Amino acid sequence: MSHLIYWFRNDLRLLDSPALLAACRQATTLTPIFVEPEANAITRWGWPRRSPLRQRQHAEALIALDAQLQVLGSRLLVLTGPAAPTLAQAVQTLGAASIVCETIAAPEEQDVLSELRRLGVSVQEHWQSSMLDAEQLPFDLEAMPEVFTAFRHRVEKAKLIARSPVAAPRMLPPLPTSLPALFPTADPTLIPTSLASPLSCSLPGVSQAQGLEHLKQYFGAGYAQTYKLTRNQLSGEHFSTRFSPWLATGTLSAPTIVQHLKDAESAQGANESTYWIWFELLWRDYFRFIHLKFGRQLYAWRGLRAPDSTHPFNETTPLNSPAAKAAFERWAFGETKNALVNAGMNELRATGWMSNRMRQIVASYLIYDLKLDWRAGASWFETHLLDYDVYSNQGNWLYIAGLGTDPRGGRRMNLEKQALEHDPKGLYRAQWTEQ
Ligand code: FAD
Repeated sequence: MSHLIYWFRNDLRLLDSPALLAACRQATTLTPIFVEPEANAITRWGWPRRSPLRQRQHAEALIALDAQLQVLGSRLLVLTGPAAPTLAQAVQTLGAASIVCETIAAPEEQDVLSELRRLGVSVQEHWQSSMLDAEQLPFDLEAMPEVFTAFRHRVEKAKLIARSPVAAPRMLPPLPTSLPALFPTADPTLIPTSLASPLSCSLPGVSQAQGLEHLKQYFGAGYAQTYKLTRNQLSGEHFSTRFSPWLATGTLSAPTIVQHLKDAESAQGANESTYWIWFELLWRDYFRFIHLKFGRQLYAWRGLRAPDSTHPFNETTPLNSPAAKAAFERWAFGETKNALVNAGMNELRATGWMSNRMRQIVASYLIYDLKLDWRAGASWFETHLLDYDVYSNQGNWLYIAGLGTDPRGGRRMNLEKQALEHDPKGLYRAQWTEQ
């Protein structure tokens, strides 16, 4: 038994966190830490990494997490600085034996762990972000079917079910008594109050309690029964589940959602719509497992394409000319020639959210009509989406660009057809373009 640090990375929850339980089992004293980067980093494309809405949402999730930890006899220590050296310093100051955390299989996140280990820090990682256990899969990850449908068939044939969520710890091991003296200024209250003010958009806050309440209301009202019929709408109240902000901040886990889905199916009946919620969550898992299989290759401009392969937008303009930059800005700020695209981009900036259909439309327009670098589009989404998820965002952009695993190549949308089908009366366009 020893002193450990539990490092909250993405998953800001206590319920269904196998990594946190592992830390609790081993620790005599435990310091929960979150590391906030010193400044809002500027992306390689020149804009801040997180919009004010995203920063505020995140601050709220941290404050809610700290409140939960206090109930269990602990606190969240928010440290500021680059993650690896900041954590290495904390390990040394606290005399901690090791850091326990969740695994995140994306390049930047993996680099931080490599740096920590280079600095001599012992780190225990636990994979916990998928609905299915990676070990349960009926194939080795190296041999994972690359096409989603084949992957899904194998999973369904093996009758795999989501892993059961684990309970939250009933108490946390105490903080070390030396903590206040060691970190006199580190406290969650240091989160700037300007960031902690309520969100100005319609999304509810992303604490674990609010997420559980949302699940109860969504399934209780029976919306899941018609999900497949409404999921392609562009706007409206309950046309899709809106689980994504909680999943993205890790305040709710996919197994917890599936547990509620199964309960609703038992109580109200299972149908194609309830199945389709599982189907979409399987897409989420698929992009995670694709990351475990291909890693950094997914972050190259060419994605998984061989260097000598041809591609419809091989002549993509990098954002290094004034004309390309101006075209990108028109896309990002809703000033293109296409009103549907403009509406989507305006909605994104104003609310931090867009329907799945609109995400596909604006991504297709950037890639195939403007012929601009898809990675800049993905980065703009990262800045603004309140449900930004590294795996799903990268995976979906690659998919639309035809640079991932989809054998059919890219997904170019016919914008006129999309507008006729999904916004026949122009209501969505009017809502977001006529201010
Ligand atoms: P619902 O339709 O109710 O789906 C339920 C859940 O299933 C979602 O919360 C999500 O976890 C999962 N899901 C649904 N569709 C997808 C999908 N295509 N890929 C992966 N998981 C899916 N989703 C994110 O969570 N974060 C992102 O950063 C993100 N970036 C995207 C970028 C592009 C270009 C596109 C086309 C899609 C992206 N998506 C992303 C997927 C999808 O648009 C959102 O998950 C969905 O719109 C969120 O709303 P919802 O929770 O109401 O979804």
